[in-house]
Amino acid sequence: MLKANRHYLELKDSYLFHGIKLKVNAYLKEHPNAEILRLGIGDVTRPLCPAAVEALERAARDQGTFDRFHGYMPECGDPALREAIAKHYEKFGVKIDPEEAFVSSGASDELGDILSLFDPASPALIMEPAYPAYVDASVIMGRRVIHLAGNLENGFLPLPGLDMEADLIYLCSPNNPTGATYDKAGLKAWVDYANERGAVILFDAAYEAFIRDDLPHSIFQIPGARTCAIEICSLSKTAGFTGTRLGYTVIPKELERDGVNFNRAWVRDRTTRTNGVSYILQQGGLAVFSPEGQKQLEDNLSVYRENARVLKEALNGAGLWTCGGQNAPYVWAECPEGVDSWRFFDILLKDYQIVATPGAGFGESGEGYIRFSSFASPEAVREAARRLAKLAKG
Ligand code: PLP
Repeated sequence: MLKANRHYLELKDSYLFHGIKLKVNAYLKEHPNAEILRLGIGDVTRPLCPAAVEALERAARDQGTFDRFHGYMPECGDPALREAIAKHYEKFGVKIDPEEAFVSSGASDELGDILSLFDPASPALIMEPAYPAYVDASVIMGRRVIHLAGNLENGFLPLPGLDMEADLIYLCSPNNPTGATYDKAGLKAWVDYANERGAVILFDAAYEAFIRDDLPHSIFQIPGARTCAIEICSLSKTAGFTGTRLGYTVIPKELERDGVNFNRAWVRDRTTRTNGVSYILQQGGLAVFSPEGQKQLEDNLSVYRENARVLKEALNGAGLWTCGGQNAPYVWAECPEGVDSWRFFDILLKDYQIVATPGAGFGESGEGYIRFSSFASPEAVREAARRLAKLAKG
């Protein structure tokens, strides 16, 4: 009889967003006129920039013509888009070969797929609180997970320790959910650790576009990263592509372990397991990287950035410790003393009609904290700030 991958049975049910939805719906049933401010979601709320829309429309029309129609695209990505991604890295002072940039359907897909490169017997170290897909993708493959707690002491930016035995290291900076962002020294510590140990870092840079300060956008800004890191990135939050789907992954040509060159292995993997990302979407992606697209998406990013600033100021004004918000769309706040994260969620919902995301949903070290998202309208955020001012008065 066929044997199943029973590791699926080890996955913990994620009640996070479902649980939030149930609670909000129950509240609305009792208070149908409540004006709920939804600051819980990690999905963008602003539309695609005009340059991307125009390119997507044009590309869709191309597909209806004989002379501009495209069939299968190259599996690793349209060379023009791979070139544009490489050019994007030049802004951070990073030189990559276009053949090191792989076009993907988004970061989530890649975070799971990329694990085929590594033996499931190699344990994964996951900095937490974390985007839930890291743990789940590892568990599905039967990989042992080592949880590395972020906390107040390390500013939610844990560093490697001598006692750690990780072969695969998940880092996310700017972080979801904490918004905390590593500086160069922090990332250098990880790169040195990974090179010494022969580990590989999976660096999730999905929020790099939100960085304002002089902090690394890419792990490849750190000397030594080319021999120990893979970077996974996405246009979801940068350019509002959550529902359009496009991302990219950078695998340096010199990255090798155990006789396997990961760039070559990934080319082989993609040519077998995908038939490339759609021509239409890749045209949209090219428009995002055009000077016009880059200028237009800044308009959206600046709205989210201002939202995050307003939220952070309001939470600090209410006497809550926060991190994030400055280089990330999320503000991570400590719950009032003695209140756990679901209890604080209930208080915010019932007394202030504000929805945030309980930190406990992002791993054990998230307990006692709550995440506010700036992906909302400026009006909703300003109103939330007004309501949060009352929190200070108790
Ligand atoms: N990585 C992080 C840290 C995220 O927060 C998200 C989405 O919320 C993703 C990856 C997934 O991005 P994508 O929409 O490209 O799948």
